[in-house]
Amino acid sequence: MIWQDRSNIWNKFKKPIEVTAWLFILLSMVIIWRLPIILEARRQIIILLFFIAAYVSLVYYWLHPRFGSVSWLNYSITTLNVFFVGWAYYLFAPYGLNLDIIWVVVVILAGIMYNWIATLLAVILSSMAYILVMYFQIGLNYSFILQSGLHLGVFAVSGFISNILAEIVRQQIRDTNRRNRSLSFLLGISQTITTSLDLEKTLPLLAEQIARGIPATFCRISLLEKDNKSLRIFGVYPLRALSGWETGLQQTYPIDQLYWHSQVVASGQTMVLRQDDVLTALDEQELKALFFKEIKSACLVPLISKGETYGVISVGEARRWERESFTKEKFDLLQTLAVQVAMVVQTARLHQAVQKKAEQLEVLNEAARAIGSTIEMDALLEMIYQQVSRIISADTYFVVVYLPEENCLDLNVVINDGVRYPPQIIPADEGPFGIVGKTKQPLLIGKLSDHQTSADSDAIRLGNEQSYESWLGVPMIAGGEFMGMIVVTSYQANVFNEQDQALLLNIANQAAIAVDNAKHHASVEERARCDSLTGVYNHGYFIQCLEDELDICQEAGKSLSLIMLDIDLFKDYNDHYGHVIGDEVLRLTVQAITTHIKATDSVGRWGGEEFGVLLSGATTDQALQVAERIRLTLLELPLKTETGLPLVKPTVSQGIATFPLHCETSNQLVICADQALYQAKDAGRDQIKISQDKVKQ
Ligand code: GH3
Ligand code: MG
Ligand code: MG
Repeated sequence: MIWQDRSNIWNKFKKPIEVTAWLFILLSMVIIWRLPIILEARRQIIILLFFIAAYVSLVYYWLHPRFGSVSWLNYSITTLNVFFVGWAYYLFAPYGLNLDIIWVVVVILAGIMYNWIATLLAVILSSMAYILVMYFQIGLNYSFILQSGLHLGVFAVSGFISNILAEIVRQQIRDTNRRNRSLSFLLGISQTITTSLDLEKTLPLLAEQIARGIPATFCRISLLEKDNKSLRIFGVYPLRALSGWETGLQQTYPIDQLYWHSQVVASGQTMVLRQDDVLTALDEQELKALFFKEIKSACLVPLISKGETYGVISVGEARRWERESFTKEKFDLLQTLAVQVAMVVQTARLHQAVQKKAEQLEVLNEAARAIGSTIEMDALLEMIYQQVSRIISADTYFVVVYLPEENCLDLNVVINDGVRYPPQIIPADEGPFGIVGKTKQPLLIGKLSDHQTSADSDAIRLGNEQSYESWLGVPMIAGGEFMGMIVVTSYQANVFNEQDQALLLNIANQAAIAVDNAKHHASVEERARCDSLTGVYNHGYFIQCLEDELDICQEAGKSLSLIMLDIDLFKDYNDHYGHVIGDEVLRLTVQAITTHIKATDSVGRWGGEEFGVLLSGATTDQALQVAERIRLTLLELPLKTETGLPLVKPTVSQGIATFPLHCETSNQLVICADQALYQAKDAGRDQIKISQDKVKQ
């Protein structure tokens, strides 16, 4: 460092010194030319000048540029300078030439070029040489003593002044160098910062740059986790583990176990720990966690941007002689750096948040699109589950539909640990489901076991019987109407947070509209399938059911029976009591039929007052029993005229055909049942007939 300072000074003075030296030689030559001196003296002076010229060339063009930093060479040059000046002084003195100024130049040169030792050497040698020369010139007398003393004083003063001047220049150079170093250091940091917003990439690079730039033995950049309760190490330098120290990269430490770090984070103040402090102040945990045992001094700087603390830069020094390493200069530099790093962290966090938001929006958009593309209720509920499972990870997912007629909740989709469970219907006020249903507000429970009674938990204990701890449910509300809810649960406590709730609510809002649409769609479809007067299937849909059912029964090897039913002399009701009563008779007859069939059976209006009853899996005998029960029920029908007079009870004729007993196709089944019906009519009505022959293809 000092050598660099000196060579800088040398570069500053090199040119004038060189010019002065050559001017001195030229001037001397002119003087010799003009001097009326003897040949011998002229010869001596020319030899001297020749030596000086050779000396100047050797020193300034060859030796100094190469070995300028070697101190013994500098002392030798100083000695030689004095020697040549002394020689010149001796030769020129008889001619009245005073070269005192040259002595002073030699002393000043030693002062500004080298150091105080060279200056002292120059002062002593110059004084000795002067005394020697004067002794030969004027001998030992009063004037000699006076002049020698005077010269000694001048040499000493000029040496002193030149040293001070040189020190000032050196200091300036040192300051400039330091500033340059700091600037290029900060510039390097800025460049690293601007390369990437990925903190996992940037912070290790910054840790290295800071450790090298300060310089310090190690540097760690730790950031506060979201909960502000722990510090995660993002950048470490050096990466190779030092003795008894782990790099800890990407490790998390609870901040309350790190006394000094928590102090720095809490106070927002930079802290410098000197050697004595370090060993007493840092307990085992903190020493192990964020430093290493060879630590001699440390500096902890908080990362603060716009009033928010993001973490800590911890810089440590292991070199004992650097125990005062955190000087004001380094301290200031670290503060400046910390501001820059904090800004980077802030920008990166902001960027992350924006990106996450954009990703969430994208996912939500996708979910909304997917959910909106389905109109069939079952497929829609499945789609809602799939989209929710993409966005929130949970142990169990429920997609629940509210059944207003029954005031129940249909846990339609239940996926627990990836396994699907059959739908389950529970009362609308049961457990946390009931709370969401009642309040129509989201419900977030961190620890379910603290909230519910054992009775509540039974309603939601599914799958592997493990109890849930985290429970998050959001209602699906469309047009102010409660449609159901989406629920996610986890075995662990406190798994879900407000963000999950907001996300789920967003999906639930989209899903609610879709569920509402699906409900409308289902009811429109239902209406399109049914006969408006009697509510049973219309002709077209009944035929479709017949075909589908036949396929199913054929595959399952089961039988399928069809009853064709026609009200006897129905025209008379219309003719005697009017069409309104006729319609009522039709409705009551259908009611009588539907009370005797299973949920898997279906009834259709074939046309006019003729109906088909499809009995899935029923044999001819079973169909006969059903037909008989219908016939008997009709006898009980409460039929009255508008004036309250009892009406003649309707009777029906029924024909039965069974697949595969009587036929092989759906068409044939209808024909067979129809033929049986006509037989019943022919036989005098109010009868049941069974198809007799198997229809041949
Ligand atoms: P049969 O014992 O031979 O079946 O005698 P029927 O009178 O029942 O037979 P027909 O086919 O001659 O008469 C059916 C009558 O049903 C004709 C029609 O006016 C009446 N009808 C058909 N659809 C409706 C309806 O939707 N409402 C009412 N009120 N009457 C209907
Ligand atoms: Mg009829
Ligand atoms: Mg008829």
